[in-house]
Amino acid sequence: MTDIAIERVSFQLTPAAEKEVKKGHPWVFDKGIVKQNKEAQAGAFAVIYDKERKFVGLGLYDPDSPIRIRMLHRGKPVTIDSDWLKEKLSTSISARRKIFADERTTGFRLVNGENDGLPGIIADYYDKTLVIKFDSAIWLPYLDLLKGIFDELLKPECIILRLSRSIDVKKISPNIGDGAVLKGSAPKGAVIFRENGILFEAEPIHGQKTGFFLDQRDNRSKVEKYAKNRDVLNVFSYTGGFSIYAARGGASSVISLDLSEPALKAAKRNFELNKDDILIAECRHSTICMDAFEALGELARQKKRFGMVIVDPPSFARKQSDVQSAVSAYQKLTRLALGVLDDAGILVSASCSARVPSDMFFDAVLKAAAKAGRPLQVMQKTGHAADHPVGFPEGEYLKCMFSFVK
Ligand code: SAH
Repeated sequence: MTDIAIERVSFQLTPAAEKEVKKGHPWVFDKGIVKQNKEAQAGAFAVIYDKERKFVGLGLYDPDSPIRIRMLHRGKPVTIDSDWLKEKLSTSISARRKIFADERTTGFRLVNGENDGLPGIIADYYDKTLVIKFDSAIWLPYLDLLKGIFDELLKPECIILRLSRSIDVKKISPNIGDGAVLKGSAPKGAVIFRENGILFEAEPIHGQKTGFFLDQRDNRSKVEKYAKNRDVLNVFSYTGGFSIYAARGGASSVISLDLSEPALKAAKRNFELNKDDILIAECRHSTICMDAFEALGELARQKKRFGMVIVDPPSFARKQSDVQSAVSAYQKLTRLALGVLDDAGILVSASCSARVPSDMFFDAVLKAAAKAGRPLQVMQKTGHAADHPVGFPEGEYLKCMFSFVK
């Protein structure tokens, strides 16, 4: 992008921050910066030098985020230009082509941000619709360039831009907003794609994340494997991802429970889309639109019991100071879920709070169960689906545990 770079700023870092960069961490925080030669706008090239003025690495600058620099390169100097970007994107895309070689899965993540060496860029593909999501404003100056490269590499019918809530677009680019259609026409309603042969709706413009939770794909397959003849309760179901896999796995009944009425309507439509599958068609599916904590208490009072309970809540820790209350919420949910789980039942507990490390989460669930007098036997601890590689500690946000009552 030196062919189009907007500006260059030089930085010197604290010894600790410099060490992290040299080790390969993709972020430099505001507190890791010692010197900066000038102010600049989001997306400026941040060139990091050591005390001897030797080149350490290069990233993109974000004046409004505590993650002040997101690294693109470290080590020997290289030219970062549109060819460099094209090479990175095509490497990332061809890795996914190897994972999803057939038409059974047409919705997957093409670019997983920092973990694919492209910090702050998420790109998800739903059939022929590409959704690009920026976690930071650093990529806005390069939007046309990125769009052009994606277009050349994939030839999507439609390209949609999603922006993280933390980006103040008006300050940077008043013509571009969250949900902007960059190519083609806005999809009328949802986009249909396939995941392991199951049809799903994705809501790329108005839905959460890029329209669907692709990261749970492999965990959903495990649910399918264990669901046979069970009554399944899917708590925080969103559009019924886990529910439909459970149905295809032979569950006798599935309840999708969520606070969002539109999400539950989509879950019903997703069942409808797959009615050619006899197991999905025969499974009794119903929905409960209610707060999960309240609903679990209510179901327990009604003496309802399930052979499998899936608990996949939204992130509970948006900042570091939320971690303790997040852990308490996971423990409360575990207690409540165990209150409706059969003796031979399977509990699936997931967390997408990046600030709660895996061990802390698994420990919290196991301790809560032991304290409730229903200790759990761990079957498996898992993470993201294969198209969501993890390249640094903060990138490992999703953890999931399959367990049963001992
Ligand atoms: N399991 C889903 C993703 C869950 S996302 C999947 O595989 O696709 C989290 C969901 O929790 C969202 O759908 C949101 O509407 C719902 N939610 C958030 N707070 C809730 C609450 N207090 N009670 C019930 N649902 C809630």
